[in-house]
Amino acid sequence: MDKDKELSKLKKEIYKLSKNFPKKNLVFADGNQDAEVMIVGEAPGKTEDKLQKPFVGRAGKLLDDLLGCVSLDRTKVYITNVVNYRPDKNRKPTAEEINEFKKLLFKHIEIIKPKCVLLLGATAATAVLNHEGPLSEVRGKWKNIKIINSYFDVLTTFHPAFLLRQPNQKKSALNDLVVFKRKLSG
Ligand code: URA
Repeated sequence: MDKDKELSKLKKEIYKLSKNFPKKNLVFADGNQDAEVMIVGEAPGKTEDKLQKPFVGRAGKLLDDLLGCVSLDRTKVYITNVVNYRPDKNRKPTAEEINEFKKLLFKHIEIIKPKCVLLLGATAATAVLNHEGPLSEVRGKWKNIKIINSYFDVLTTFHPAFLLRQPNQKKSALNDLVVFKRKLSG
């Protein structure tokens, strides 16, 4: 499979969903498309929209710091979001938006074919695991799930924006990353 070709086809499909996000830029992905790790966030914020790269604001800086603690960085991971356009006023994506974008997120995961997927927060857990309850029910637990035609190992942790508001949870997030790294190296 030619990843570059598949990814540019996917970008065009995502672009068709831009009609509901006038004046917003496509924030597609960052990092290494051949990485063993794929990270999925919620949706771009103001800085991400401006720079057209996921996780480059305050939450992104914290994500980079946490990844650094387990010797990961953007040369070793591939990062995207469930929704690829910035929702107005930083609101959470609606259930309809999550449903609409998740089909393309699944294609994205299939194209990248990572060894492990890390979900950041409730929106990513809803989209990928169909999880609607509290994050604590899935956080820190491995799931092996079928996405289109292949199975993927998926772990959920806190969203870094949540950790900025609740720094006392950083220790648990770090623990999740240690668990994540262990499977990756195993
Ligand atoms: N929050 C997200 O979920 N994604 C980003 O790209 C930035 C902040």
